[in-house]
Amino acid sequence: MDRIRFRHTLLKLGVVVLAAVALTARPAAAAEFTPGAPGLGDPFFPLAGNGGYDVGHYSLAFTYDPSTRQLDGTATIHATATQDLSRFDLDLRGFDIGRLTVDGAPATFTRDGQELVITPAAGLPAGAAFTVVVGYRGVPSIVTDPDESIEGWVPTDDGAFVVGEPQGSPAWYPANDNPRDKATYDFTVTVPAGLTVMANGVLDSQTTASGRTTFVWRATSPMAPYLATATLGRFDLTQTTLRGGLPSYVAVDPTLSTASVLKKLPDIVDFYSSIYGLYPFEAVGAVVDDAKVVGYSLETQTKPVFDRVPDEATLAHELSHMWFGDSVTLTEWPDIWLHEGFATWSEWIWSEHTGRKSAHKWFKTLYNTPAQDTAFWTPPPGNPGTAVYLFNGTIYSRGAMTLQALREKVGDGVFFKIMRDWAADHRYGNVTTQQFIALAEQDSGLQLDHFFNVWLYQPEKPTSW
Ligand SMILES: [Zn+2]
Repeated sequence: MDRIRFRHTLLKLGVVVLAAVALTARPAAAAEFTPGAPGLGDPFFPLAGNGGYDVGHYSLAFTYDPSTRQLDGTATIHATATQDLSRFDLDLRGFDIGRLTVDGAPATFTRDGQELVITPAAGLPAGAAFTVVVGYRGVPSIVTDPDESIEGWVPTDDGAFVVGEPQGSPAWYPANDNPRDKATYDFTVTVPAGLTVMANGVLDSQTTASGRTTFVWRATSPMAPYLATATLGRFDLTQTTLRGGLPSYVAVDPTLSTASVLKKLPDIVDFYSSIYGLYPFEAVGAVVDDAKVVGYSLETQTKPVFDRVPDEATLAHELSHMWFGDSVTLTEWPDIWLHEGFATWSEWIWSEHTGRKSAHKWFKTLYNTPAQDTAFWTPPPGNPGTAVYLFNGTIYSRGAMTLQALREKVGDGVFFKIMRDWAADHRYGNVTTQQFIALAEQDSGLQLDHFFNVWLYQPEKPTSW
């Protein structure tokens, strides 16, 4: 932690010095090719992502053998330089690097923690498209987060449970691991025959030869790197087509008793489409695994992954993230309530829609928590303070209460317009809390600074708003 802060400080100083040089001593015509930043400066994960380029597409091809836990892969990354680039980083944890080329020419590289530092044979001019090919091999790792939860590539008894929020994706592929750099993906994954690979998007092909099966998945909508998965193991895979021709892929570990809850999936998707607007992606589904050591489920794009058979609220929660989290994604991690508050409120509105407890009653039940219960009311959802509280209960519960309080303040007509506008205006984009407040004020015609200040930023139980 200290090392990261130190490096970040150095980086900032470097930028200041470069800016000063640029102002005073820039030569008339010579392009200055400079290294891309090793991180994008997120308040919680400053080294996540990298500066100087933007990824358009990842093509990930690898074999994985659960008996040896060995991954042998080639990542082909299509990107565009956003500065005159002498050098750039990818995020990758562990692995031995084999072939590494930029635009077909061998590039040199060094390793520094999670940074794979690549120096191409020639500088990359700003605006130029370029292709990086990284051959890599090794045992993918489990990443432990500041809140002690685990993520990354988590082996199971028959494969692996693959989840990357907020920083686990570089445990299995080289990435520009920041939610601001969305890209399309394809996955070509080869495993021992009998296993199934569940990656994002649409299943393009599945071919078996010589005792091995190769799955090709294509994710054609922009996706933040942390939402990628290639969860694999023994699964019963059910492929169907939902209303509007949407392909659905539901995979269930055959050791788990049949999850009738999954029959609700089409209705849940229909309902959220009716209140939030069109489903944003090319496919939908769910992956239900036996991976209880993980302790949570995740909204991996187009097919959330569950570490056990989910209850209906959890299924609804993860599906609602397709709109809020996956399509409309935070810019910086402290704004995580824009995902978790929205998904928790979505559980409540599904409950209300199905004739069970209303969102108002969910709000009331939680609001009755005494102000003295500081663990319930702090940290406030708009300001988790540290990465330790990124997925703290308040982010979910007070985040959802914020939306229900807004609903009751502006009325259903305006409230649902805000939710639809939010999903439509920022589809596939990145957002901030300030943008949400601005939209709520615009749609309602109300001045809501006090309302959001009390609900999102004050570290005690709100009493008037
Ligand atoms: Zn969630």
